[in-house]
Amino acid sequence: MLILIVNSGSSSLKYQVRRLPPAGSGGTSAGVLAEGTIEQIGEGDVRDHGQALDAMAERLEASLGGAEFDAVGHRVVHGGGRFKTHRLIDEDVLQAIDDLAPLAPLHNPPNAEGIRAAARKWPGLPQVAVFDTVFHGTLPEHAWRYAVPDELQEKYGLRRYGFHGSSFEFVTREAARVLGTPLEKFDAVIAHVGNGASATAISGGRSVDTSMGFTPLEGLVMGTRPGDLDPGLLLFLQGEGYGAGRLQELLNRESGLKALAGSNDMRGIVKAAGEGSGRARMALAVASYRLAKYIGAYHVACGGAGALVFTAGVGEHSAQFRALTADRLGMLGIRLDAAANTAADDPQEACTISAADSAVPVLVVPTDEELVIAEATAAVVSALH
Ligand code: ADP
Repeated sequence: MLILIVNSGSSSLKYQVRRLPPAGSGGTSAGVLAEGTIEQIGEGDVRDHGQALDAMAERLEASLGGAEFDAVGHRVVHGGGRFKTHRLIDEDVLQAIDDLAPLAPLHNPPNAEGIRAAARKWPGLPQVAVFDTVFHGTLPEHAWRYAVPDELQEKYGLRRYGFHGSSFEFVTREAARVLGTPLEKFDAVIAHVGNGASATAISGGRSVDTSMGFTPLEGLVMGTRPGDLDPGLLLFLQGEGYGAGRLQELLNRESGLKALAGSNDMRGIVKAAGEGSGRARMALAVASYRLAKYIGAYHVACGGAGALVFTAGVGEHSAQFRALTADRLGMLGIRLDAAANTAADDPQEACTISAADSAVPVLVVPTDEELVIAEATAAVVSALH
C-alpha cells in the first residue's frame, strides 16, 4: 500500500510517502519514497494549507511521477474522549476534530485544515485521522482522573488524555525489540523531548501514565510552554487582568525555555551555557530537573522500569541534556557511559548510552511517528474491504 502521511501544523506541513510493508524491512526509515516540509504557510507565497498541499503535490509529482496513493494518514493531536481508535474521516469525524479545537488550539485547527485541503484535492481517497491521544487510552483511572467534581469531569471531559502517542508507540516497540524483551513484558520510562515534550511510563508495553494532560500544556518544561504550574498562579494572573486569550499566548508561546533562556533552541542554549551564560545554565537546570523528577515518579508508575529511553529533537541530539538529566538519577542506579552518550548524536538507529554497571539500560531511539501513522492508516483502510 502506498500511504501519504500529512502532519499539518500552524505554519508548516510535513509530509512523507511510504510503502507498506516496506521492501526489505529493518531500519527506521524503511519504505520512505519521498518526504519534505512546506514552511512559512500564511507568511509568504503559500497562503494557506490548500496551497501548501498543492506545493507538496507538485514536488511529489516531480519525484514520484504519477504514483497513486491508497490513502492519506493525517496526524491529529487531540482526539478527546470520543476517539479510542484511529478513524476513517467523514464529516462527523471532522466536526469532532473542530469541536476539540479549544483543547489544542495550536494543533487541531491546522490538522483540520490539512484534512479539508486533502479531501478537496483528492475526493474519494480514504483519509484517516491518527490521533496522538489513542496510545494513552490504556491509562488506569487513578492516572487519568483529576481530583475535580464528577459533574465537571463528565460535562467537559476533564481528564488526562496525553499526547505524542504515535512517537511513544514506535519507541516502545523499537526499544523492546532492541533489548530483546517481549512487548507484553516491557516496562520503561520514555522521554520524548522536542520542542513539545512529554514523558510516559510504559508497563507491559502499554502507557500507564504520561505527563501531558487535558491539553499539551502539562508536565515537562518545553520550548515555549512552562509545563507544570500551580493553578493558583493562573488564578492570580486572572485577578491581575490576564484574560483567557492572553493566558493562551503566555502559556503556549512565551514560556518554557524561551522565557528562561530567551530562546527555545536547545542547541543554542547548550552552547550559551558552555560559554558561561547564567540564564542558559539555569534554563537547562530547570528543564533537566523537571524531567528527572518525572523519571523518578514514572519508575514508581510502571513498577520499576526496565529501561530509560530518550527520543525526539533534544532527546536524540543533545548529549548534554541527557547527561544533566541522568546526573540526577544516580540514586536509581542509572549511569551513562560518557563516550557512548557523546557518540549518540543524531543516531540513525537505536543505541545504548548507559554504563555497563547501570541498574537499567539507557537508550536513544530515533522516533518514527510517520511509520506508526502509515501503519494505522493502512489498518483502517484494510478493514474497509
Ligand atoms: P517538535 O516538537 O517541533 O517536533 P523536534 O522533536 O524536532 O520538535 O525538536 C526540536 C528541538 O530539538 C529544538 O529545541 C532543537 O533545538 C533541538 N535540537 C535539534 N538538534 C539539536 C542538537 N544538535 N543539540 C541540541 N538540541 C537540538
